[in-house]
Amino acid sequence: MPELPEVETVMRGLRQRLEGRRIARAVLHRADLRWPFPLGLAQRLTGARIESFRRRAKYILMRLDGGDSLLLHLGMSGRMVLGPAHPNAPVLHEHMVLETDDGWRVGFVDPRRFGAVDLVRTSEEDAHRLLRDLGPEPLDTLFSPATLAASLFGRRTPLKAALLDQRVVAGLGNIYVCEALFRARLSPRREARTVAGARAARLVPAIKATLGEAIAAGGSSLRDYVQPSGELGYFQHAWKVYGRAGELCERCPGAPVCEGIGRIVQSGRSSFFCARTQR
Ligand SMILES: [Zn+2]
Repeated sequence: MPELPEVETVMRGLRQRLEGRRIARAVLHRADLRWPFPLGLAQRLTGARIESFRRRAKYILMRLDGGDSLLLHLGMSGRMVLGPAHPNAPVLHEHMVLETDDGWRVGFVDPRRFGAVDLVRTSEEDAHRLLRDLGPEPLDTLFSPATLAASLFGRRTPLKAALLDQRVVAGLGNIYVCEALFRARLSPRREARTVAGARAARLVPAIKATLGEAIAAGGSSLRDYVQPSGELGYFQHAWKVYGRAGELCERCPGAPVCEGIGRIVQSGRSSFFCARTQR
């Protein structure tokens, strides 16, 4: 499942190739993904010039010269695949194709079809039903220790669950919450309301650094953010705790009491953490 850094690298790849281009042709191979495509989608895209891109949480917004933004969400399994428009070979599970005036095609491939495509007026992006309730962007300066502490105030839920709540902070998923909590030395089980002051001052920079490093890794490991296969974004990660249950964490090699990275299930999802250093 793509998380925020993957979505950011996909968006940068789209921007690099598509910004300033005109959509010569838009082709839909079905009528819906998670939800029906908007009426007249192909006609409204055809001929439009792509002005700019924006990412909000895990949504990509492609802003068009007519005042519309194309909203894209990759869902569980969505990928954007870039290649020359000729030969225009069909791709399995490709549901939408945009061809540009300079001879490129970008396809939205989504085998499980949890992805989403919608149109929204650019001036009303933040009022879209999928965006309007989102909390601050984690990399924005508006997301600070003070704002985080304020939104966790009085909450007795585990910190892990609170950070996955998109109203608290937008775009964080299971992997990066685990990694950021490890970096901040905070337990995923800790009551959210206890994270204020010094703990919030540790957690917010940890979230920003974890995401920032992953985005930088995506940018440096891929040429123009494109895989050799034409797929945009995605890159190899080295997680510190995620998926490493039973291994010794890097903070306690040989520590006599470290039992290795633990795994617990919270709200149906795995949390990975070091019980010795995350409190
Ligand atoms: Zn450890």
